[in-house]
Amino acid sequence: MRDLIDRSEPAPRPLGPALAKGWRRRCPHCGGGHLFDGYLTVRPACDICGEELHHHRADDAPSWLTILIVGHLVAPLMISAYQLFDLPMWAHAAIWPVLALTGVVILLPRVKGGVVAFQWAHRMHGFEAETNAAAAR
Ligand SMILES: [Zn+2]
Repeated sequence: MRDLIDRSEPAPRPLGPALAKGWRRRCPHCGGGHLFDGYLTVRPACDICGEELHHHRADDAPSWLTILIVGHLVAPLMISAYQLFDLPMWAHAAIWPVLALTGVVILLPRVKGGVVAFQWAHRMHGFEAETNAAAAR
């Protein structure tokens, strides 16, 4: 008897291009629409292709990843500068927090775009269905 239920896996979504689009803060599906409405608020849907983006569950992952990256960049620089140069403590207190905060401000939306794109590419948290507006087109 013929099985009427389609049990085939959905087509895989390429991870690399999706991550690149997310890093550029663009829709992981089309790469044209803006992913964020403001600094970190993910749009409910792409304004160009209609891909539903509200499924994401980025939660604290972008913050943790950003701290991990910035910490691994700034801490070695700070330790090296402390060992190599005879800077006064006020200079260290002025340089490193500003450098760390600048890195966080620059990286956080890009990392969050990457996390949302990762979830989209792996069809996590509601991104798995082809029933959203983009698939209907
Ligand atoms: Zn789109």
